[in-house]
Amino acid sequence: MSIRINFNNSFSRLPELFYRRKSPQGLNKPQLISFNAAAAALIGLDATAVDDKDFVDLFCGNGLPPEADPLAMVYSGHQFGIYVSQLGDGRAILLGEAVNAAGEKWDIQLKGAGFTPFSRMADGRAVLRSCIREYLCSEAMHGLGIPTTRALCIIGSEDPVYREEIETAAVMTRLSPSHVRFGSFEYFYYTKQPDAVRQLADYVIAQHFSVWQTRDDRYQKLFDQVVERTALMIAHWQAVGFSHGVMNTDNMSILGLTLDYGPFGFMEEYDPGYVCNHSDVEGRYAFNRQPMIGLFNLNCLAHAFTPLLKVEQLKTSLQQYEPLYFQYYEGLMRKKLGFSTAMEDDDRLIADLLELLHANRVDYSIFFRQLSGVATADKSHPIDELFHDQEGFYQWLRRYQARLSIESLAQQERAESMNRVNPKYILRNYLAHQAIESARRGNYEEIDRLLKILTMPFDEHVEFNHYAESSPSWGKDLQVSCSS
Ligand code: AMP
Ligand code: MG
Repeated sequence: MSIRINFNNSFSRLPELFYRRKSPQGLNKPQLISFNAAAAALIGLDATAVDDKDFVDLFCGNGLPPEADPLAMVYSGHQFGIYVSQLGDGRAILLGEAVNAAGEKWDIQLKGAGFTPFSRMADGRAVLRSCIREYLCSEAMHGLGIPTTRALCIIGSEDPVYREEIETAAVMTRLSPSHVRFGSFEYFYYTKQPDAVRQLADYVIAQHFSVWQTRDDRYQKLFDQVVERTALMIAHWQAVGFSHGVMNTDNMSILGLTLDYGPFGFMEEYDPGYVCNHSDVEGRYAFNRQPMIGLFNLNCLAHAFTPLLKVEQLKTSLQQYEPLYFQYYEGLMRKKLGFSTAMEDDDRLIADLLELLHANRVDYSIFFRQLSGVATADKSHPIDELFHDQEGFYQWLRRYQARLSIESLAQQERAESMNRVNPKYILRNYLAHQAIESARRGNYEEIDRLLKILTMPFDEHVEFNHYAESSPSWGKDLQVSCSS
């Protein structure tokens, strides 16, 4: 094997309690669908690695280097509010952990690499469609500055996979500093293995927060950190209009990374009740419930941490979630509005704007992107075309302009800073859909094109202006479900 990855497999050095060793199943006649050079650099590979004759075989699981130590991780979790005692990697194989030249550790995981002991009744596969969605979205989120797992490549095949219709199998390589989930801790708590809960916490601390290793309060520090990172991650989601879709505790990263992209969606017309997952009939994971579900999930994790911390300590830490969330969210929203200072009434101004966007069914991202063009002295502005209630809009705009006038930045500078936080391009469902449809016909260019645009979502890319517009009517009601 000529591809050199510097493996240091810390997770597989833990006792077998935490995983089952399992080799990936691989694909027949594998074919490269897309390669992301930016992610390759994270594991010490350069852009030419993809040309290596072994690349495709390695990243679909057909041929592993001897230093890999493939395994499926054990976890459980609360799914739609109900505890499910045994989940685990049913279709993902952790090949091992790569250490790059900067000393950073990255898990290399093949998603869709076949049966594992946790596959239950399912096939261990991922379809090309869902691989493309996760691949594009995780890189888009990274481009937006939102904590997330990363995506290295997609390898496709002709192997049939049975979902609502027959699709083809693919493998997506996911990179993450860690794949430990809230549900990883829950599994050991509910199976009454408090020593394993401690061991897992010690492992996470050793790997990611080693400065705390010798502190007596290390578990408290860890739990506080998870609370804080979760609040920050969800604040980012709310500010950008992202809906995860399946916020089960098995999909919650212990490092506060957006993890397990399934039926996610970027909101287009602002609607707080937006439910992106067609299977979520009760709207448990509706957009405006995400911050609250974050707290629910942290509560689940707190239970699992009771072997390590007193209930009072956990409660105190959980109480930090809400203020932290609002602090982060308001901070992000102020930046979107071009405010560099905080004023007491900002929350009112933001809430009234959201109400107006909702009532007028305004495209959330388009509005914020255009807002940077509004000057304090403007009597009118073409942005008003987004609203049918013009009077309501101008009432809000006057308040906004008055608020802007106490900011010190000149119009030009403010516009630039707003354009660095308000993306021109988001992964609209129909864009992913088009890339998927082309890929099914054997054309992968659209994936690469989107990857390029979405990883630099704040840039103009004028030749792709049409990708920044709201979805065509056929693309507004595309339904996405859990089946992936
Ligand atoms: P998800 O909703 O994708 O986060 O998956 C929830 C659980 O179902 C996890 O334990 C997955 O590993 C498992 N799972 C999902 N799809 C499959 C599949 N096609 N084959 C085996 N296990 C799966
Ligand atoms: Mg999952």
